[in-house]
Order: sequence, then structure tokens, then C-alpha cells
Amino acid sequence: MNALPDPALRVPAPSARALVPFVSVADMMRLVHRVGLAPMLRDLADRIEDSFRRWESFEKRERIPAHSAEGVIELMPTTDGEVYGFKYVNGHPRNMRAGLQTVTAFGLLADMHTGYPVLLSEMTLLTALRTAAMSALAARHLAPEGSRVMAVIGNGAQSEFQAVAFREIVGIEEVRLWDIDPAATEKCARNLHGSGLRVVPCATAEEAILGAQVITTATADKRLATILSDNMVGPGVHLNAVGGDSPGKTELAREILLRADIFVEYPPQTRIEGEIQQLDPDHPVTELWEVIAGRRPGRRGRDAITLFDSVGFAIEDFAALVYVREKARETGLFQELDLIADPDDPRDLYGMLMRAAP
Ligand code: NAD
Repeated sequence: MNALPDPALRVPAPSARALVPFVSVADMMRLVHRVGLAPMLRDLADRIEDSFRRWESFEKRERIPAHSAEGVIELMPTTDGEVYGFKYVNGHPRNMRAGLQTVTAFGLLADMHTGYPVLLSEMTLLTALRTAAMSALAARHLAPEGSRVMAVIGNGAQSEFQAVAFREIVGIEEVRLWDIDPAATEKCARNLHGSGLRVVPCATAEEAILGAQVITTATADKRLATILSDNMVGPGVHLNAVGGDSPGKTELAREILLRADIFVEYPPQTRIEGEIQQLDPDHPVTELWEVIAGRRPGRRGRDAITLFDSVGFAIEDFAALVYVREKARETGLFQELDLIADPDDPRDLYGMLMRAAP
């Protein structure tokens, strides 16, 4: 008996111009190893810094959240007029108990002139990389000169990326770890073994911050938490507050904020989501891009307390995606997705569908 022709064979091949490069999780992991983790963190910090220098050429808006009792799903769009980008990202602190990630993400770039997507990429790994690069970039501008010791409070998915980025970009030599879950600290210490960092697991948050010039908080809890209380933060430190990034989710005592010089990404978003949601809406803050562009001073002196109130902004993801697009092209580490219907006659979308009938 003759076999029936495979109906799939009658479906026209997708046109090459409409195939969308797709960087999967597996390709992203290969890409990081091909470039090298440390060079990639440095490259990402440089790319974000370049984008912050041309801050005014981007369209900016607060990200668009959908809140639930468990967490938040957010869309983060921006464009520089040539390229459009967005990231889909979630933050669900209780996920971990169910064996799921707190933060997952993917992102897209498109050509502003045709609207056609030019890249679809995993961004769970890329978010950890860009967040660490961003934190270290901020610290390069704000941390006390000669900072060598960093406390990392919250030893989950972001923590090792933060430690390696600060080693590479700021010159941190010792990381002091603390997490309410000792298994997280053990995992982090194990992963950082052989990284060139001196790794010191600590029994309390107080012990972790002993002698640290930089304090990173990267905890996940959907509430107004006090990871650092007022008496724990003395003069001459840089605070890198990563985990307070959504309404009702903060990490620092309000009194610390009142003593700190506060640096933010995009004030309208940070006032809603960052540590400064605890302050009056007109409390003075400095936009980090202005420090990077040399328009505003950063650290005022050795004894100042600087705070990078990190929430994550669309321009950082845009810069990271543009970088990944270039690297994917260079290395061939991507697949092509048949994502966009693109008939030869652009008005014959219906005809294209009907010609594919089984
Ligand atoms: P994760 O769930 O993998 O890790 C969080 C860790 O914090 C866990 O190990 C948990 O035990 C610990 N923790 C919770 N409460 C604590 C406390 N009171 N003291 C000490 N440790 C505590 O999450 P993750 O992916 O590492 O993300 C960490 C945080 O960073 C999240 O809140 C996330 O939303 C945020 N985040 C921010 C950005 C940004 O750009 N600012 C980017 C990514 C993630």
C-alpha cells in the first residue's frame, strides 16, 4: 500500500527573512562558556554602561506588573528608535518551596522599522548575569575605593553571579555569606569554591557584614522585611539592595535610607518598587545614569553610605539582548524559529493557510 504523503511536506517552507533567531537555555549556557563567565560579566557591564550614557535616547516607562498573592509577572519594554525590546519576567518567592525558580524570564528584540522580531532569547540566566553586572557597575561608581570584602545576604539563584561580578569588576576578594537557610549558604560556598574568592559562610547577618565595605542583599520574601536594621550599617559602606523590587517587598530598615545617599535606575519605577517606596515621594535620589555620564557626583566621601536601590530596568535587559544577538551571530549558537507568518504575497495570508490544507 502506498503511504499517504506527509501533510507536513505540503506546508510551504518558512521564508528565510521571517525566521527568528532563538537562543535557548542550552545555547545560552554554551554561549556563556564560549565567551567565559568573567569576560561576559565585564562585557555586559560595559554594554549597560554605554546604554546608560545614552539614557536620553531611550523611551522609558515603569514596567507593567500583574500582581497576585504569590508574586508578580512583569513586562519591561523600551526602544532606542531603531530596535525595540521587552522582557517577560516573574518574581514568586514561594516557588522555591515547590522546586521552582523565584525568577524566570525571556526576552525579545524587534526591528522598529518593520516590527519583525530579530531575536527571541531565554533570559533567566541572562537576568542573573545582567543583574550582577549592573550591581557591580553601580558599585564601581559608588563603593569606597579599595573595597575588598562583600557580605552577600540571601544565597539563592542570584548570589554566585553577584559574587563573581564583584570580584571581576570591583576587585572584591572575600565574600561573607548568610542565608536563613543553611543549605543555600552551603550551595553558594560550594559553587564559589575555586573561584578565586575567599568564601566565609557566617552564622548570622551581623557576622556576615563584619569588615565588609559592600553589603549585597538578595533575599526573596514578599513583604516589608528587615534584612538590615539601622544599627547594622555603619559609615563608609556601599549597599547593593537587589531583593526589594516590588510593592510591599523591601529589605532595609527605613532609618538606613534616611542616612544614605540613594542611587536609582528610573525613579518613577523605583519609587513604586524599590526600598524608597518606604520614603516620601519627593525624597531626593540620584539617577545612576547621571553619575555614569559625569553629570552628578557619586560617593561624597569615605564615610558616606551609598545605596544602589536596584529593581532592574528595561534598558539593562535591552543592552544584554543586543549583546546576546551579536554573540549568537558570531558563534552560531542559536536556532531559527518559524514564529512569524510571512506569505510571499503579503496580502495572501488566507491563501497561504489554505494551500497548507491536508
Ligand atoms: P532565590 O529564591 O533563589 O533566593 C533567595 C534567598 O533568600 C533564599 O535562599 C532564601 O532562603 C533567602 N532569604 C529569604 N529571606 C531571608 C532573610 N530574611 N535573611 C536571609 N536570607 C533570606 O531568589 P533569587 O533569584 O536569588 O533572587 C533574590 C532576590 O532578588 C529576589 O527577591 C528577586 O526578586 C530579586 N531580583 C532582583 C533583580 C533586580 O534587578 N533588582 C533581578 C533579579 C532578582
